[in-house]
Amino acid sequence: MAPDLQPLTLRRGSVTAGVAALAAFAVLAVLAGCGGPPPPPASGAVTMARDYELGPDGKLVMDRLPRRAAATVAAVEEDDPDKIVFVGDSASGGTALATGVRTSIGRIGTAAKTDLDLPNIVEVARGKGMRTGIITTASVTDASPASFSTHVRYRFCMGPEHMAGENFFGIQMPGCPQDESSAGGPGSIAEQLAAQRLDVLLGGGRKYFDQHVDAADPASTTPLDQALANGYTLAATGEELAAAHPGERLLGLFAPDSLETEMDGEGGRRAEFLRLTPDGDLIEPEPFPCVANPKHDGTPTLEAMVTKALELLDNERGFFLMVEGASIDKQAHNADPCGSIGELLAFDRALAVAQRYATQHPTLIIVTADHGQSQQIIPYPSFFAGLREGIIPIPSPADMPRTFRPQAQHTPGRFARLISISGSILNVNYATNVGADLPMFPAFQEHTGVEVPVLAAGPGSEPVVELLRQPQIFDIMVAAMGGR
Ligand SMILES: [Zn+2]
Repeated sequence: MAPDLQPLTLRRGSVTAGVAALAAFAVLAVLAGCGGPPPPPASGAVTMARDYELGPDGKLVMDRLPRRAAATVAAVEEDDPDKIVFVGDSASGGTALATGVRTSIGRIGTAAKTDLDLPNIVEVARGKGMRTGIITTASVTDASPASFSTHVRYRFCMGPEHMAGENFFGIQMPGCPQDESSAGGPGSIAEQLAAQRLDVLLGGGRKYFDQHVDAADPASTTPLDQALANGYTLAATGEELAAAHPGERLLGLFAPDSLETEMDGEGGRRAEFLRLTPDGDLIEPEPFPCVANPKHDGTPTLEAMVTKALELLDNERGFFLMVEGASIDKQAHNADPCGSIGELLAFDRALAVAQRYATQHPTLIIVTADHGQSQQIIPYPSFFAGLREGIIPIPSPADMPRTFRPQAQHTPGRFARLISISGSILNVNYATNVGADLPMFPAFQEHTGVEVPVLAAGPGSEPVVELLRQPQIFDIMVAAMGGR
């Protein structure tokens, strides 16, 4: 679908911020041994997708953005916000990007300890008469999109039924009693989004909008009722998305929760633990390619959503749009490299739409991530694979203890050998958690504390040249809008 570019008009301060995934970008140890600032942004997810699709000589759309820097990621302790937590989540990272303030894990647009609401970039843009939009491949109530426009104690308070706090496989998560509408609060994230009157809000999450505000009263209103009363038009299919026209306030809910991913491993395969023969030899893991995920059929692509959003947001006073490729992170949690690769490539195609728009309208584009993730590209077989008692004689037994295990050396993590488009084998490893093998969350891979890339183009992108702190990205976006 070609972008519907509007007639040439000057829109100073227009901002398109692409937040590429909660965790999309695991920056590996490229910085070590790299001389002189600025540090080149590097990312496990970006490298993995580029290597798979194009090889090391190819360039993604995001690789061609002219301003290239990185941002450190950190959260703070809930009870002592002066203390740093070195690995963040999508709530703390999204809040840092959207409000310029570091907060604790799980908080959405609210300050650690005090629970005060933090003004966000959508509110700043609206205050300047700009249009606002949020697009994600997750539920629109998920932590990143929520951080850009709502305020709540905990990220799982996505719908009215979830305000008491989720029990996650026996782990009790915080609830949001102070935010309940019955307690005079602004309600769940879905209720707040309904009240927000964004011009464009697209993604998944229909199930949260169909919950009743009073769980005991099936006749009570739902967030969807509230959204329609506030002037949103609902789109539930790609056809309804395509039919939306300027002047409409568009709420697109295309799945009960996250959208299906564009790609999958052949046969549903993901990274797997390596297996050994009884003699301790490695059983050669069978390589596999990534394939289109048939479950994605009928789901609007990120590219189609961005194309429509730009058509609806285009106006004289400018706009702010956040676009998230959410499942780059979500599938890394599942040790699913093909899922992440497909979503990163989908994000890159959506970025190309925004870039085409920016060639005709002065627009700041920022691509970044909210935190690192677990994927690593590693050698296979291990450099040390043969270092094994009985196979390689270990010298100097008198002064060197023979502590090697009687098995081939290999990664302890989950491992996938991907047959890349070029036919070369790409070896991907996940080793941040042993995982519980639950069907819903098979791998439980975790975020990491690396800095994330910040890639930018357009007016206002000048500060994106050196190592930034994540909250500074909020300041850069506000400055591009002409200040508060
Ligand atoms: Zn995550």
